[in-house]
Amino acid sequence: MINLVNEKNPMPEQKPDVRNKNFLEVAEGYTEDMAVREALRCLQCRKHPCTSGCPVSVRIPEFVSKIAEGEFEEAYQIIKTTNSLPAVCGRVCPQENQCEGKCVRGVKGEPVGIGRLERFAADWHAANFGDEEIEPAQSNGHKVAVIGAGPAGLSCAGDLVNKGYEVTVFESLHKTGGVLVYGIPEFRLPKAIVAAEVKALEAKGVKFVTDAVVGRSVTVDELMEDGFESVFIGTGAGLPSFMKIPGENLLGVCSANEYLSRINLMKAYLPEYDTPIMHGNKIAVVGGGNVAMDAARCAKRMGAEDVYIIYRRSAEEIPARAEEIHHAVEEGIDFRYLTNPVQVVGDENGYVTGIECVKMELGEPDASGRRRPIEIKDSNFILEVDTVIMSIGTKLNKLILETTENLEANDRGGIGVDGKAATNRPGIFAGGDAVTGAATVIKAMGAGKVAAAGIDEFLSK
Ligand code: FAD
Ligand code: SF4
Ligand code: SF4
Repeated sequence: MINLVNEKNPMPEQKPDVRNKNFLEVAEGYTEDMAVREALRCLQCRKHPCTSGCPVSVRIPEFVSKIAEGEFEEAYQIIKTTNSLPAVCGRVCPQENQCEGKCVRGVKGEPVGIGRLERFAADWHAANFGDEEIEPAQSNGHKVAVIGAGPAGLSCAGDLVNKGYEVTVFESLHKTGGVLVYGIPEFRLPKAIVAAEVKALEAKGVKFVTDAVVGRSVTVDELMEDGFESVFIGTGAGLPSFMKIPGENLLGVCSANEYLSRINLMKAYLPEYDTPIMHGNKIAVVGGGNVAMDAARCAKRMGAEDVYIIYRRSAEEIPARAEEIHHAVEEGIDFRYLTNPVQVVGDENGYVTGIECVKMELGEPDASGRRRPIEIKDSNFILEVDTVIMSIGTKLNKLILETTENLEANDRGGIGVDGKAATNRPGIFAGGDAVTGAATVIKAMGAGKVAAAGIDEFLSK
């Protein structure tokens, strides 16, 4: 029985004027009834284009039909065959550009809520089977090192331990999870979900070494001399970029990465933690990606009265997920489109007092296919703010490239790899943001899986 309703079943969520004062999860998830109703919207298409939109090819119609039948655990097990972090992906994947973007039901209405159903299956499993004991994997005697405990490293480690490899993950921070823990805020992705995934990997036998900066504490070459037969580099692209405009060194300017790390990783939003953080009252966040949305929504929750997003193109081009923009607007974030900062202004003590901007208009499309923003002459104005958060992108930290002998970079400055995630150095593999530059969780996970298969092939020879 197909449910012919054209819209997705709405997911309950906290009201905007309540949630913009707390860090609890915004979306509350489907109930069993809601999930079954949504699953019944799937047409079970023979060619299932939705699957081709998913970077790890989740068997979508199969798991959705299990939910429609009320077989929730079976649905979860189907997803798990190709996706090791469904509770994460169901929450943060840009589904509108991936699986749901290809769903046939999207032609005449809204696509099937594939992400919401994936989240439901994962949460249902955690609530009903989460305490089940996990058997340690049988060792095949081969040792592999994974550098970086983000989605790329975790998915690579998971696939390798399942194949019998003895895996040790080296992570520079004191916590595992990468951006899932230090970047994406609790109100979008509760940290307990990531911690449970890491615990499951530990139970299988993966060892985690935190506070270990590879390239400083130990090099990749030293790891290989120490008996690791293969190394996977999944160190992300966490080095923030700045605009290089006057005033960026004033007190009250920081990168979104630093701001979010203080809040998420170092729990600056909880009174029992004494993490220092800028408590601005009027905050400008420069940029239009998911990171900018997270910083702005955190700033509001930290008590700022006015929070602006300053973005140089229009609402048509803004890269953040539609859902994040919608939530940010509901929570009272003020979007200033077609606006570009030219300098940060400050007082005689070096504190930020405002941000000088110019108005922009759109010209012809540039190399990215988006219309090029052009300054409107003499349109300068100053927006009064006491804090500026720069969120204009991140790039790869070159530490590993510089400290690993003869390791080659690609033309975007990331680590160079072939189709099997192998670098130019035999036995060394890489994937995720460290190769592509800032991308998505599911793409990083997909790259970790490709690398695990490549490492298995390399060590099986
Ligand atoms: P990371 O997650 O960056 O993990 C790399 C890990 O390596 C880190 O833990 C780092 O500490 C560690 N490391 C770095 N150098 C070393 C070293 N020398 N030695 C040891 N360890 C090291 N994507 C989405 O799909 N949806 C979203 O909603 C979304 N929102 C985002 C919000 C924010 C604030 C940010 C910053 C990113 C967001 N992304 C989102 C992008 C996504 O999180 C990344 O593409 C993804 O996490 C990349 O995974 P990764 O494993 O390659 O790298
Ligand atoms: Fe969609 Fe992401 Fe799930 Fe793939 S992993 S089906 S892209 S939500
Ligand atoms: Fe179901 Fe949409 Fe996939 Fe068709 S394209 S099988 S309707 S999820």
